[in-house]
Amino acid sequence: MLKMATDQRCECCGDRIAPGLLQIHCIPGMIDGNPVSSILILCPVCHTSMHTLSVPRRDQRLLVRSRRAETERRIRRVFREKPYHPPPSPDPEELFASALSAGGMDLFLNGA
Ligand SMILES: [Zn+2]
Ligand SMILES: [Zn+2]
Repeated sequence: MLKMATDQRCECCGDRIAPGLLQIHCIPGMIDGNPVSSILILCPVCHTSMHTLSVPRRDQRLLVRSRRAETERRIRRVFREKPYHPPPSPDPEELFASALSAGGMDLFLNGA
């Protein structure tokens, strides 16, 4: 659902790729805030460079802000169906991904 929200596009380079290849990136330090504005849906290439080049958080938020209104709305809908409360952890991104793949996905699909 989350990946469909961007029309299977990377939010960084805009490339359209298979949804299975898209990755969910959590902007560091943002996970406690609004989940909609603390994630980016990225292709593996952009996701890797987001980490290896350590893109400034400000620039990452800029990408979130330039997201299309329709995409924003779809992501919001996903989160409204199942509010996500990240547990305290040194690696929220990994927990986030596992929460999506385990159980959480069923709720998303049933609610659609
Ligand atoms: Zn990309
Ligand atoms: Zn990431």
